[in-house]
Amino acid sequence: MKREPELLEDETLDPADWASIKELGHRMLDDMFEHLQSSRQRPAWKKPTPFAVDSMQQPLPYTPQEAATVYEHFFTQILPFNTENAHPRFWSWVQGGGTPLGMLADMLASGMNTNVSIGDHMPMYVEKQVIEWSKEMMGFPAAAGGILLSGASLANITALLVARHHFNDTIRKKGMQSVTGQLIIYGSAETHNCVLKGVEVIGVGSDNFRRIPVDDQYRIRLDLLRQQIKADREAGHQPFCIVGNAGTVNTGSIDPLEELAAIAKEEGCWYHIDGAFGAIPKILPEFADRLKGVELADSLSFDYHKWLYVNYEVACVLIRDAAIHRDAFATSVNYLVQHERGLSGGPDPMSNYGMELSRGFKALKVWMSIKEHGIERYQYMVRKNLRQAQYLAGLVQASPSLELLAPVPLNIVCFRYNPGGCNDEQLNSINKEILMRLHEQGIAAPSYTLLNGKYAIRAAITNHRSRLDDFDTLVEATLRIGREVTAQKTPT
Ligand SMILES: *Cc1c(COP(=O)(O)O)cnc(C)c1O
Repeated sequence: MKREPELLEDETLDPADWASIKELGHRMLDDMFEHLQSSRQRPAWKKPTPFAVDSMQQPLPYTPQEAATVYEHFFTQILPFNTENAHPRFWSWVQGGGTPLGMLADMLASGMNTNVSIGDHMPMYVEKQVIEWSKEMMGFPAAAGGILLSGASLANITALLVARHHFNDTIRKKGMQSVTGQLIIYGSAETHNCVLKGVEVIGVGSDNFRRIPVDDQYRIRLDLLRQQIKADREAGHQPFCIVGNAGTVNTGSIDPLEELAAIAKEEGCWYHIDGAFGAIPKILPEFADRLKGVELADSLSFDYHKWLYVNYEVACVLIRDAAIHRDAFATSVNYLVQHERGLSGGPDPMSNYGMELSRGFKALKVWMSIKEHGIERYQYMVRKNLRQAQYLAGLVQASPSLELLAPVPLNIVCFRYNPGGCNDEQLNSINKEILMRLHEQGIAAPSYTLLNGKYAIRAAITNHRSRLDDFDTLVEATLRIGREVTAQKTPT
């Protein structure tokens, strides 16, 4: 066969000059360590410049550029305008801040470029080890199964698919059309929106998610749950799943998890717990009572990237009955058959436990982090964050111009500036303005929520770099900006 003359045998995507990529790699590492080490010296947020944004609206490049030039673009236009969730005063949404070793683990995983899906190779065993440890942390039985996913959203969807399969194992093949009566799922009105998306994905439809009202501590009302299940049965519907919250996203409230387990059992429903961040204090002996019931769930989701501070992205779903878990996803296709020997031997393919076929080596950063810190240091950090939440709540309560808007059972503090003499509508716009200025002035990055129509400044403390004086800074700045904002727009 005639070869095309311009086809060069030695041309690959590897660098022609390994020495210079090594040098660049070392510089990247130094830059990232410096970036992490100096997070406290930077503003808690910086708006991307128009120049930086414009640099992401360029035509598709056809010609090659030097790796060093590409890195320069990253270093000058992307890195400086990061979310800054490694900053000690970052408390927005629920985001962890990562660690240096977590970063390095991701580099190693990417260097190995393993597809943790199928085959006889060590990364498969590392993930199994992490799942074993996850079960132990959460009080799940040794026979339980589980898998790592990108986040609690995907972990919840995975659990809901198993729940649906448990209810009716023909739906996998025949679809929802084969079921008579509507499948109904229950959870509190405070349940995270990703669960509702999951209910849509599994074909049940979010209208069939019953948003049960909460009590004054934002916990599901068990009496109303029972009434609703009864009403649904009388209407000919099919209750199939109850979702409990171990730590709601708005206020960190914990549903009565044991009582929910009992109701699920009575009703023959699957019991799923969304413990994205709030299940983490399960590692603390002093939380044994408050999180009692986590271990009773049929399935549990939690994030490693939030309150266990592991770098994005990684979460875990545990399923009490490993056989049902497998049955909900297992396939037998010609190209994925396990062999007795060779690369195609090894553990059961991961694709038998979830929707993904190709998967990265997320397990490595979890495995390395747990080994590096030991559960003891995680216990210390989670306790520290819990104590910081109480400290912030205390500062709020001690200030006549601040108002605590919800109880603080975990690590989330919702409050607002309220100097008196303003109605809720005025307070909402004042507090929104305060939040935007806190960010713009680079002081701190809490986020917000609405609680019974009241705009709350919300600090979710999953930050291992925060110190108590960071919360003093937040409160002082809130009061100062509050005074500035109200001086400008005197309420009528
Ligand atoms: C963050 C969160 C989720 C979603 O988790 P991701 O990791 O962002 O996908 C689900 N439930 C609760 C309670 C959360 O806080």
